[in-house]
Amino acid sequence: MAAGLYIGIDIGGSGIDAGLCGADGALIARRRMPVVRDMERGDMLRKMRSLLRSLISIAGIPPDGVSGIGVGVPGAVDGKRGEILYTANLPLSGLNIADELRSDFPAPVYLENDANCAALGEKLAPGRESVGNMVFITVGTGIGGGMIVDGKIYRGFNAAAGEVGHMVIVRGGRKCACGRRGCWERYASASALAEDAAKLASGAGGAAIRRLCGGDLARVSAKMPFEAAGQGDAASQRLVRAYISRLAAGVTNLVNILEPELVCIGGGISREPDERLLNPLREIVYRETYPHGRARARLEKAYFAENSGIIGAAALCAL
Ligand SMILES: [Zn+2]
Repeated sequence: MAAGLYIGIDIGGSGIDAGLCGADGALIARRRMPVVRDMERGDMLRKMRSLLRSLISIAGIPPDGVSGIGVGVPGAVDGKRGEILYTANLPLSGLNIADELRSDFPAPVYLENDANCAALGEKLAPGRESVGNMVFITVGTGIGGGMIVDGKIYRGFNAAAGEVGHMVIVRGGRKCACGRRGCWERYASASALAEDAAKLASGAGGAAIRRLCGGDLARVSAKMPFEAAGQGDAASQRLVRAYISRLAAGVTNLVNILEPELVCIGGGISREPDERLLNPLREIVYRETYPHGRARARLEKAYFAENSGIIGAAALCAL
């Protein structure tokens, strides 16, 4: 990046995260504000402005001392006009965010899809300087994706590319909110794993997970089957193996289609130790990838964890 200070904002369904980044892309400070259900657009914009002011005061600079503001949004955006075209769960569709922020903050505003921001952020991690082709997937409530092709974010014809979670892996399978059945995220998101673990906990083989959730099946999380499997519970080990093979199905599809140098996995699941997640995942993906490539895609977890989106949003300013 050019000299200066940049701010990256990552707008999510449960919170707005913002960070101050240096010219080298390093995160200097971060702030978070929760987003509550049914929050109105005006409230969200007030929160964003207040996060920006708080970061600017940490930096001890006037509002015009910021060199650029990047914003990542969960949805489709028109980056050139600074307009949010569509967001599924937030009241921001049709909002020109660049116009909204311009009156208080004179720095140029850049807008991008949140998963694309995270991909861009992860590309800045050590050892990835030369990576030109990569896929970032975030495994959470659903599975989001950001793709970098030949060094550039791949946005598609209408800025809506990267919906990797909605590739069907089981024809006629579980119903998805997108209207299809059998989407990858209905089997391999953290929510899907938590759902399957709760189902296991409700049956005869679910004692270990029942213990972890204190008997309250509504509290079963995606972490619990991993934890129970690590403690030697055979039913949880089977569940985790099945989960990883479903995660691998989608990763292998992406590798076969794009032949990326790197597949980077973010979201809460990626915090599981390598021996529980990445190593078995690699084994399946490497076994099942179409065998014409000489080099194997690197499968790595997100280096910047929950900060990838902020760092990538700030990095938009330098593109
Ligand atoms: Zn779907």
